[in-house]
Amino acid sequence: MTRSLDQVVTAAAAELMAATATNVIASCTRVLADVVDHLGVDFSFLRHNDHVIKATKLVAEWPIRDYIPDPDPIGVIYFSEADPIFRQAEYLKKPLIVRPEPDNDDYQRRIEEGRGVPSVSMACVPLLSGEITSGILGFIKIGDREWTTEEQNALQTIATLFAQLQARIAAEEQLQYLAEHDDLSGLLNRRALMAHLDDRLSDGRPGPVSVLFLDLDRLKTVNDYLGHNAGDQFIKMFAERLRAGTERPAVIARVGGDEFVVVPDGPMDVATAESFARRLQTWLQRRVVIDGEMLARTVSIGVAVGAPGHDTTSDLLRRADQAALSAKSTGGSKTAVFTTEMASQHAIRNDIELHLEGVIDEASSALVLHYLPEVDMRTGKVLGTEALVRWRHPTRGLLLPESFIGVAESINLAGKLGRLVMRSACADFARWRSRGTATDAILRVNVSPVQLVSDGFAATVDGTLAEFGLDGSAVCLEITESVVVQDIEATRHTLAALKEVGVRIAIDDFGTGYSVLTHLKSLPVDTVKIDRGFVRDLGANAGDLAIVRAILALADAFGLEVVAEGVETVAAAKTLLELGCPRAQGFMLSRPVDGAAMEALFRQGHIAVDALRDTSATPGRG
Ligand code: C2E
Ligand code: CA
Ligand code: CA
Repeated sequence: MTRSLDQVVTAAAAELMAATATNVIASCTRVLADVVDHLGVDFSFLRHNDHVIKATKLVAEWPIRDYIPDPDPIGVIYFSEADPIFRQAEYLKKPLIVRPEPDNDDYQRRIEEGRGVPSVSMACVPLLSGEITSGILGFIKIGDREWTTEEQNALQTIATLFAQLQARIAAEEQLQYLAEHDDLSGLLNRRALMAHLDDRLSDGRPGPVSVLFLDLDRLKTVNDYLGHNAGDQFIKMFAERLRAGTERPAVIARVGGDEFVVVPDGPMDVATAESFARRLQTWLQRRVVIDGEMLARTVSIGVAVGAPGHDTTSDLLRRADQAALSAKSTGGSKTAVFTTEMASQHAIRNDIELHLEGVIDEASSALVLHYLPEVDMRTGKVLGTEALVRWRHPTRGLLLPESFIGVAESINLAGKLGRLVMRSACADFARWRSRGTATDAILRVNVSPVQLVSDGFAATVDGTLAEFGLDGSAVCLEITESVVVQDIEATRHTLAALKEVGVRIAIDDFGTGYSVLTHLKSLPVDTVKIDRGFVRDLGANAGDLAIVRAILALADAFGLEVVAEGVETVAAAKTLLELGCPRAQGFMLSRPVDGAAMEALFRQGHIAVDALRDTSATPGRG
């Protein structure tokens, strides 16, 4: 028994209601096939209108052509170029019946070109979405055919079903789009990026998968100085440039306020990714005008590469992020490729950021001071000591200052840390003195550049000295040479205030930033500490010898005390003694020791320096 037209419509409704964005074309095609079969016609098509580009686009057809010409003459048809029949698709409101007649030759010719068939009879009904014609549905019989009113009504009902489906899919796609995109930049969002990378990194997919992590270096400044609107505009323009500058097909996402990720389609090795990143960086750094202000964008790019079936999305993103951070920390506007070293550095850094403040605040014993004795190499007399901070970390062991001083400075903890060190050192020193040792010794304390330019630094030092009853002349603050030169006026100001307080001042790492030489005379400095880089190979390296000799001559001319740092060998020590520089510290004399051991050294008063004596003239010690 043949089905009624009503049954065909009902079947179409069931089919189309179940359709989803992923299988919509197949569903539509099945409906077309069913109707073609029922009507006994030859062809059918479903077309959607694109009112933006003003064209009608083929969505589904039945039967599907074996051969589709390229370009397809019935694929996308612009209304302006369409024959009178297709042109009607733009605003069609009622069924349109076309039967072979001389006045639609153009249409017939187009069908013939596209389908290679002679003159036809067609019923075409609009897909209506309110007042708007959103597409057309057409059925064609080769030769001639009549179209009954019942048939036309049934087709119009099916067209309505198609129109509803079209609206539903569009809404779903819109939701999907919103769920996957960042509204400000129009780029993919983090979630969509993760989904993409999950797919790319699944086992069996081609690799390696390269990821570029971009970090805008100055967005905060733009927000702070020009306001958030300008910041938003900046991001939009950046996103546009990023799209334009991504020279190959790639997924581009905005994953944070000022963080973007580019994942090139297809496999890419690390070297290719790095050179791509460098080109992208150059391109992104051109200037842009926002609110009449010229802004130069600098961006740090981190590159990481993952292997499908091996690395996870979060691993890969984290590595690229770490590489970007590392690029940024070396001054920004750089490209860096992820290394395993970065991972451990980053882990330490994170950990330090997380715990440092707590450690400083709780005044627990986690931050400890070790002391490096300063010795007169002629006699071995212990002249003083330098406080060196360490962090007794619960899992990482004893951390040296280079792994956390920088972090402290970058998160504004340098002042706090510096005050803690100053207080602990003064407390220790005062205690030793109260027990009758170190009475004529000097305590040296390192000062972070950040402390030096902070307000009230001299007053804090004054307060601490008073608290522990120490005389300023027994305490020396060490400032690294590079800082002195960076902001000479601020330094001059602070040093003058410190002189009022009465403490001594040493230039640390002397010789590494030559320019301070010109200021030496005008700054209230008491001591220079020759950088250990010049001392280590002294006795073997003629260049170092010349430099040390020059420093000593200069110090002599200005009446400054000199301490040699980093004496590791007998040869270096002997050379220093020959040059007339007996004050020194270094591993040959003593390693840094804890407070108790330092007190013991002070009590002892001397460190053995037998090796420096002429053995023939010195009786052996017991
Ligand atoms: P620095 O002021 O130049 O301190 C001397 C550093 O050289 C110490 O390293 C010391 O252990 C090391 N050293 C001493 N003799 C030798 C030697 O013969 N050979 C070698 N290779 N090294 C030697 P440390 O303790 O790791 O300190 C590194 C830097 O950290 C210090 O360099 C100083 O700039 C900074 N620092 C240390 N403690 C503090 C502090 O409390 N506050 C601040 N702001 N900085 C500190
Ligand atoms: Ca020092
Ligand atoms: Ca030093």
